[in-house]
This record gives sequence, structure tokens and C-alpha cells, in this order.
Amino acid sequence: MAGFDWFWKAMGGQQGRNQKRSKAIVQRADELRRDLWQLDDAALAARVTNSTVADDPALLLACLSVAAHRTIGMVPFDVQNQAVLRLLEGDVVHMATGEGKTLVGAMAATGFALSGKRVHVMTVNDYLADRDAEWMRPLVEFFGLSVASVTEKLTPEQRRAAYRSDVVYAPVSEIGFDVLRDQLITSRDQAVQHGADVALVDEADSVLVDEALVPLVLAGNEPGRAPTGKIVNVVKRLRLGAHYTVDDDRRNVFLTDAGAAAVERALGITSLYNDEHVGSTLVQVNLALHAQELLVRDVHYIVRDGKVALIDASRGRVADLQRWPDGLQAAVEAKEGLAVSEGGRILDTMTLQALVGRYPMVCGMTGTAVEATDQLRQFYDLRVSVIDRHKELQRFDEADRIYATEAEKNDAIVAEIIALNSVQRPVLVGTHDVAESEALATRLRGHGIEVSVLNAKNDAEEARIIAEAGDLGRVTVSTQMAGRGTDIRLGGTDEADRDAVVELGGLAVIGTARHRTSRLDNQLRGRAGRQGDPGTSVFFVSLEDDVVAVGGAGESVTAHPAGDGRIDSKRVQDFVEHCQRVTEGQLLEIHAQTWKYNKLLADQRVIIDERRANLLDTPRAWEELSARSPERAASISELPQEVLEQAAREIMLYHLDRGWSEHLALLDDVRESIHLRAIAKETPIDEFHRIAVAEFKELAQRAVTEAVDTFNTVRIDAAGAHLADEGLARPSATWTYMVGDNPLAGGGKSVIGSLSAMFR
Ligand code: ADP
Repeated sequence: MAGFDWFWKAMGGQQGRNQKRSKAIVQRADELRRDLWQLDDAALAARVTNSTVADDPALLLACLSVAAHRTIGMVPFDVQNQAVLRLLEGDVVHMATGEGKTLVGAMAATGFALSGKRVHVMTVNDYLADRDAEWMRPLVEFFGLSVASVTEKLTPEQRRAAYRSDVVYAPVSEIGFDVLRDQLITSRDQAVQHGADVALVDEADSVLVDEALVPLVLAGNEPGRAPTGKIVNVVKRLRLGAHYTVDDDRRNVFLTDAGAAAVERALGITSLYNDEHVGSTLVQVNLALHAQELLVRDVHYIVRDGKVALIDASRGRVADLQRWPDGLQAAVEAKEGLAVSEGGRILDTMTLQALVGRYPMVCGMTGTAVEATDQLRQFYDLRVSVIDRHKELQRFDEADRIYATEAEKNDAIVAEIIALNSVQRPVLVGTHDVAESEALATRLRGHGIEVSVLNAKNDAEEARIIAEAGDLGRVTVSTQMAGRGTDIRLGGTDEADRDAVVELGGLAVIGTARHRTSRLDNQLRGRAGRQGDPGTSVFFVSLEDDVVAVGGAGESVTAHPAGDGRIDSKRVQDFVEHCQRVTEGQLLEIHAQTWKYNKLLADQRVIIDERRANLLDTPRAWEELSARSPERAASISELPQEVLEQAAREIMLYHLDRGWSEHLALLDDVRESIHLRAIAKETPIDEFHRIAVAEFKELAQRAVTEAVDTFNTVRIDAAGAHLADEGLARPSATWTYMVGDNPLAGGGKSVIGSLSAMFR
């Protein structure tokens, strides 16, 4: 915050963040602009110094404005300048679609960078990161600053270079995955990120609220842990009771002495429990046994296209992106006689909320911030500033059209689209999931209507399509996530048919059902009526819709539908609103509860981070190990000091990382099972905290003890510590994924799904 003390001083702290003051600054910036316009580029750039940023916001704004005009040909509107001021102060600005947030974000990012802060501009996808970085590059570079984008396709070297820039545009997921991968490095020069001071979040409510608890996951292969075919066959012949037992809640299997003997005989080995086998063969036998006995086909998983797909028990659906850790996946594959993929384990996970929490300063922009005010304050201590529209809103939002049944509603939606299309008026339909989009498109095509369908699969391609959604005769069907951040101009991108479309009433937005929060409804409505354009929006609702069923659970409303199923009643209208408020409340509660669990892990991660940084950047590892095991240290003391330090570092980091990953897995289990303890009159969250804190303490101690053991036994020579020889290899490959998609848009899964079940 240091650079913006002027704002705090000027505002008198919390209280006075009044619009008046910032309008006065904008006004003064306008006046200054006229003089600055005379300066040549170099002189203009030189006007902004570190102290300008801190002391003279009007001058800063004026310089940024003139530079924006010269470099990208846009003179920022007053409302845009106000938004820039608010961002610099650390607010989330509420600015409607089409008001020019890209320019606003770039001006603020440049302002931050001019005060020496590194800024991460978080976008919702790769396409927007590239587009915005390229579009805004001339403005940032005008002041001698650097800008880059980071996207999925970049190599580690390219990322490392990109992250050195003053302003970095990147999807929030890429930034998060890079943070996770940087937690695995064993020497500082492998890091791709170099820290950042400010997170400027685009579509802030999507990222900070809707997707806040979606975990980013880093998984790694685990060489040698998958059971061999031979072991699987041996295990198949074992008998329950005689060779192994299962505990009461069917979570664990145990080999009996007779079982162990049978396996040893079949494999021709002397003991499963000696040093040679305990870390490998025995692990494989246990995995194979677990897969065989505890995981039941069509209950815990299905086999589809030659692959094992997990079933999410809480929702009874296939969880596509999930795998079992620790070679268990491979064990099940072997049991089913399928091609065995390499075993994997989850190395680290982090929610977007925890990621954003790492930045000293956060600000953001979105068209629907006001509706998220409570969440932004509660979870991030962020305030919302509403920025006026440049031109008044001309869009007309119709009242919901309500039907008794879903079938009647769908008929009405199709009829409405046909009617709009018959006069060539462009229509944008927002659906809740891909299947619904496809079904609707098929019906419309049956009526001879050409339809573009967007499924959030190819962002660049979909951005091109949605950009044309305002053209004459277009019908575009899109899920909530698709084509975000793209401007819809009336009459097409070239605006050739603008007059005709304006004449017809502009873009018609249709929602096929209300969302679980009105905020998501408003995101969809916001697609129409940009920059004073005409347009309309309407939602179709049926009493069978999810939001009505969930939000109105236990309540019913008497309705008297017309012949086509339409219900035209203020009371039913109110009931639908009520249902949505209930689901909004539920989501907020789930978010709050879930965050209580995640918060503790986020705090523990900070401690792990510090420990890791200490081990990476100092000779601490060597000092600790040699102090604890002086004889061993003496025996290798003829090796060069760097070799010793690096060997010690790798040993300690290995056990620390391994411990953290096991800690996460354990707490996941605890979290899953803890609601059972609630029956025993313990508060789940308190109990969770107690276990998490105790386990964490143990993790820290164990990591050190194990490191000392390894230090004593592992071969250390001029090439370093030979950890792989001891079965302590780091994963040679890692992969990343996000668990589930937007839980609010339907089709989501996991944490939110299972936790909502748990808090019911
Ligand atoms: P948002 O992200 O707020 O929906 P964009 O950043 O995509 O909006 O901008 C919408 C459109 O408005 C873009 O085509 C952009 O070129 C244009 N625009 C933004 N600011 C200005 C300005 N000050 N002068 C002229 N055009 C602008």
C-alpha cells in the first residue's frame, strides 16, 4: 500500500472513500492533460517518477491518459480514470461490460509498476491473457516498463523470462500451477516465478467467489509403485479371512501372517518385511489387495473406453479428472486387465482463494461486483467501488416468463427464438451446461435456424464467434463460461449492419433458467446493452428448475398455468426470487464453512513456504544435518562444500515435500470422515483443527528425523546424494488439473459437492 498513502490521507481512512474526491482528481487530470500533450514522448514518460505515483495522482492519471491516446489510440473516459484510481487504491471496481475494463486494468497495472511494484493481471483464460498483453503492450512499454503473458503452452524457460516483467498477464490457473510447481524445486534457479506485489483480478467475482474454492492440483508420477501383473495374479488367489482381513468400515485391508507367507512363496522371496521388499513389493501387494477387495466395479468406478473412471459417490456421477493416488489407479487397472497407466500421487493442492491470499495487495474489476460485495468483504477484505456508465443503460430487462414444467418452458424458449430470428434480430441464449446447449441447438436446427454453439472449449475460436453474436440474424447459444471477456458489437464486429440491428431493438439475451445467484443472471444480461446500445434480456423459468427445487425445498406454491403452461402471477414471480435468495444463502454458507477448512491449510502452507525458502536459499540444511549427525558429516567432509550443501538440501526438501503431500492426503481423509465424529458430539471444524495442528507439528518433526536417517545411509559423492537408490526419487513427471469446473454453473463436482452434502 505504501505507494498510495495519498489516497488514505486524502480519504481520511475507511470513511471518506467518496466519489467526489476521485472525481476532483479526474477533473484535475483533465486539465493537466492539455499541458502534457505538448511534451514529446520521452519528456512525457519522464514526468512520472516514483514520487508522482505516491503524491500526485492527478498527474499520474494525466500522463497515463496521454500515453494511452498516443500508444493505443484511446482517450480514457472520465469514468475509466475514476476506475483506475479505485484500482490503485485496492478496490474491486464494478464496471459494466463494454465499458473498457481492459484499458482501465492496463493503466492501473502501469501505475503500480511505475511505483516499483510487480503486477500479475489475472485473466480467466489463455486467450484473454495473450490478447490483453498484446493490446496493451505499447502503453506499458511507453514508460520503459516490460509486459508479458504466461499461457499454458510456454516452456519453463519462457515462463521464467515472462515472470520477470513488470506487468504479467496470465490466467489465474497458470499462475497457481506455477506456484505449485515452484514448491518442488531443489535449487533457486529452477523457480519460474519471482514474487509479485499486486494481483489485479479480471472478472473478479468469477475468480474470487464462484471459483474460489476450486482446488488447483499438482500430481506426480510415482515410479515403481504400481503393482506388477505377477503381484496382481498372486493377490487374486488370496482368501478373505485366511490371508487377509478388512476393517469394519471397509477402509483398510490387512495381510495376515498366512497371507504374507503365501505371497512370499508365490513370489519366491524370503520376507515381504525385509528392507528389500518393505518399501516396494509390500506396497504393491497392499495396493493390489486394496483394489481387489475394497474397490468395487460399478460402485466405486466404471470401466469405459478401456479406462477406469472414478464415480463420485456424493453425486453418483463419473468424475472425469480424478484419479486415485499412490499407484491405486494402476492397481485397479491391473485388476481389470487394462493397460496400466503410471501411478500418480497428489503432490500439492491449493485453492484460488489461497492463491490470491498470497499477494500483499489485491484489486479487481467485474461487471457484477456489487452483488458480490458481502463475499468480497468477508473473504478478502476488499471493497467495491461502483463506476458510473459512460453512457446510460438502454437495455430493458423483462420480468421472468414462468412455466409449470420444464417441457413447456423449453417449447416457449424455442418459439421465442424462432420469432426473434424471423425478423433477423440477433439472439444470445445463455444455458447452464453443454448438454443443454446441444439439445437446444438441435431443436433450433430442426426449424431451419443456423446456430453457433459455444462450450468453453476453445477460447480463441469462441471469442471470434461471440464477437459476431450481435450481427443480423445470428443465433448464438452459449454456456456461462464461454466467450467471456469479449465485446459484442451490434451489427457484427465491423458494425456494418448496426443501424438495422438497432432498429430491431439490439441484441436479445435469453436465459434458459435462473442461476443459483442473481449475480450470474446479471453476468448474462450484461452481454446486451453495452455503451448505451439498445437490447433486452429475459429469463425463462419453470417450477421444475434446479434453483426452484433446491431453493424452494419443502415449500410449494399454488399456480394456475394457462394452456401453454405459462404462469403469470406476481406471487409465483416472488416465489422464484425467494428460491434464488435461498440458494444464494446456501452457497455463501458453504463457502464460509469450506473456507474454514482451507484457511488452516493455507496458513500451514505459509510455514512450509518459509521453511522451504530457508532450505533453498541458505546452507541451513547442511548445518542441521551435520549438527545432528556429526560422524556422518565428518566421513564425507572431503567433498566440496557446495556439493555437501546441495546434497543436504535435497535430502531435507525431499522429506519436507513428501511430508506435506502426505499431510494433505491425510487431512483430506479426515475431512471426509469427520462428520461421523459430529455424532459423537464434537464440532467437526474444531476437531479438524485439532488434528490438523497436531499432524502438522508431527510432520515437521518427522521430516527432520527422516532426513537425518537418509543422510546417514544414502550414498553421497561428488555427484551429490543418490536419493533414487533409496527409493526416494522425486517424480520425473508432473501434471496439473483443476478439480471440477464452476460449481455454480452446474456440472461441477468434488469439494463443494461433497461438502454441501456434509453440512446439510
Ligand atoms: P470490457 O472488458 O469492460 O467489457 P473492453 O475492454 O473489451 O470492455 O472494451 C470494450 C470496447 O470499448 C473495446 O472495443 C475498446 O476498444 C473500446 N474502448 C474502451 N475504452 C475506450 C475509449 N476510452 N475510447 C474508445 N474506445 C474505447
